[in-house]
Amino acid sequence: MPACGTTSKERTSVSDNKQNEKREAKHKAAMEKQKAKVDANIESADLERGVAILVTGNGKGKSSSAFGMVMRALGYDMKVGVVQFIKGEQLSGEEIYLRDKCPQVDFYQMGTGFTWNTQDRSGDIAAAKDTWAKVLPMLQDDSYDLVVMDELTYMIAYDYLPEAEIIDAIANRPREQSVVVTGRGGGSALQEVMDTVSDVKEVKHAFKAGIKARRGVDY
Ligand code: ATP
Ligand code: MG
Repeated sequence: MPACGTTSKERTSVSDNKQNEKREAKHKAAMEKQKAKVDANIESADLERGVAILVTGNGKGKSSSAFGMVMRALGYDMKVGVVQFIKGEQLSGEEIYLRDKCPQVDFYQMGTGFTWNTQDRSGDIAAAKDTWAKVLPMLQDDSYDLVVMDELTYMIAYDYLPEAEIIDAIANRPREQSVVVTGRGGGSALQEVMDTVSDVKEVKHAFKAGIKARRGVDY
């Protein structure tokens, strides 16, 4: 047996170790750089106020993102209003949960008058206006920490509600209040007034592979 030197197995593990060390060092350097960037951003973000968020795009995750923020706000006992600008064909888990378990949340859903039927455009507009009448006072009430306007973008796209009035209400809401708007589309004027705009991209959707909408996941 050689007195010194290494077996090929040991040699491999030495070179593996070196490679790992290199990788670790590279990772550490990258993380330090990233941390410096994040710290600089944190340092320069000195405005303390509510934020207006638009979650749009064709991918899944817009409304569920909004309800994630509802959960966060409730964790801090904040006052939350949720208004859905669509009449659900079926109950959703979030509706059941908020109605049954969170009476402190002001939840409102567009009424039965809404049909998506363009032949009943005036009925749709009336339902949209009634629903807007529920959310507007929330946008003027500084006791609300978070107001969610789920699927609001369609009301603008279909010209059921005046875009200018919506933008004005969001722009002039109480300083500490945050708002979340969801729905596909959402024109440039709406995007302009929002602080954060996320465009959820569809890469794949289970539905297109024939998988049915799933209770507790999709509704
Ligand atoms: P979620 O409520 O799951 O976050 P969403 O708000 O992003 O979805 P909506 O356009 O409001 O999407 O659609 C509501 C329903 O349609 C949900 O059941 C959702 O899973 C489903 N859905 C969302 N995106 C797609 C898609 N690209 N193709 C098919 N179904 C979709
Ligand atoms: Mg949605």
